[in-house]
Amino acid sequence: MDLTELTIKQAHEGLKKGDFTSVDLTKAYLEKIKKSDLNSFLSVTEDLALSQAEEADAAFAKGYGAQGKKIGMLCGIPCAIKDAILVEGQKCTAASKILENYIAPYDATVIKKLKEQGAVILGKTNLDEFAMGGSGENSAFGPTKNPHDKTRVAGGSSSGSAAAVASGEACYSLGSDTGGSIRLPSSFCGVTGLKPTYGAVSRYGLIAFGSSLDQIGPIAKNVEDAEIVFKAISGKDKMDATSTDYKFEESNISLKGLKIGVPKEYFVEGIDKEVEKITRNSIKKAENQGAKIIEISLPSVEFALACYYIIAPCEASANLARFDGIKYGLSEKGKDLLDVYLKSKGHGFGAEVKRRIMIGTYALSSGYYDAYYKKAQEVRQLIKQDFAKAFEKVDLIFCPVSPVPAIKIGERTGDPLSMYLMDIYTVSVNLAGLPGLSMPVGKIGDLPVGLQIIGNHFQENKILSVASYIEKLLT
Ligand code: GLN
Repeated sequence: MDLTELTIKQAHEGLKKGDFTSVDLTKAYLEKIKKSDLNSFLSVTEDLALSQAEEADAAFAKGYGAQGKKIGMLCGIPCAIKDAILVEGQKCTAASKILENYIAPYDATVIKKLKEQGAVILGKTNLDEFAMGGSGENSAFGPTKNPHDKTRVAGGSSSGSAAAVASGEACYSLGSDTGGSIRLPSSFCGVTGLKPTYGAVSRYGLIAFGSSLDQIGPIAKNVEDAEIVFKAISGKDKMDATSTDYKFEESNISLKGLKIGVPKEYFVEGIDKEVEKITRNSIKKAENQGAKIIEISLPSVEFALACYYIIAPCEASANLARFDGIKYGLSEKGKDLLDVYLKSKGHGFGAEVKRRIMIGTYALSSGYYDAYYKKAQEVRQLIKQDFAKAFEKVDLIFCPVSPVPAIKIGERTGDPLSMYLMDIYTVSVNLAGLPGLSMPVGKIGDLPVGLQIIGNHFQENKILSVASYIEKLLT
């Protein structure tokens, strides 16, 4: 039996029955990681993983989970963490030269929660530098390859987190999503990724990109696993004032009578014909099971990309100001303080990060603030209202994740605008603070294609319940 093929649920059962130990499971994953040429991990935390696995085995032997609690589903199960989330005592680089040797001084809240469950942390995964990108190619440490076709990208920015799960290098992983970074790589790699409602999961200990947009979420082998991880990491945290007291209530909504909205603006020019066909096929399958398909209109999403590419860089320019060569990571010598700043930032940040800082700083400067940042905030309200109106009529929205399947490595790196276009179906979800899931529903040749299911605020339960019905229909 290949232990790396098991889902969380299956691995949990196996551990409980004593079919194998957490150390066996962990070693199987570490072996896979060692053999891999995908560049999905930036660092492997082997010692930590093995000691956590031993602790988990001891807990199973005693019949109790970590810290004397009942054995949790994640106890002894190996996972991978996007390298923008702090794990105490381990490197956290955000895939940037400026943080190349930075050691996290504390655990992010999500990590604390996973550790309390007895999770095993295999390592930190590759990403676009500071989570800025859609292909994974903006990493200062090289792109992640797509496990389905190594000449193609894994999708970004959580490239390594998606590739690791897809290739059996981790049972599940955590990613973060500011404008699509969980959903897009999940779609490209054929795994299931959930971007939770803004506020459902604490952002404490996530290196900030766009603070009003960022959310941490799970990437998993199937819908059930995504739900298990989401339940484990969500909830109010006193260290993040934007987190909410949120209790996930399991729901069992079937497709019968479900009102599914399909936005007409999402099926226009620019979408790959095969992607459209696969998306429409899965909508049809839901209809055949009794769902009601309702065409909806989200007129303001036409401006979502423009709006996102103002707001996200504005917030990024403020958030990244702290990386000045003094407080964190790389510090270059200079003749005076300004020189230290210029050299450290100049050498430490990559081209895309610099581009975003410049756009953000420009759009926030006096004289331009009203024309760009304030306008973008107004458009953001309109987008929110479009969704609010749609959810008066429908339960969930079905649409594509990306207009194209995984692109070739290098195909769009010279043209940032064409790269940004891949985010066309994902950014509006973050602007509106909504939950969205990507699940694999088909393939073009070897390349997986995901379906995006968007719900109203805090309706992850509805999304996950319906997604698991769809998953059953497809298998
Ligand atoms: N691709 C988008 C960007 O480059 C989204 C990134 C993300 O969600 N972190 O900003």
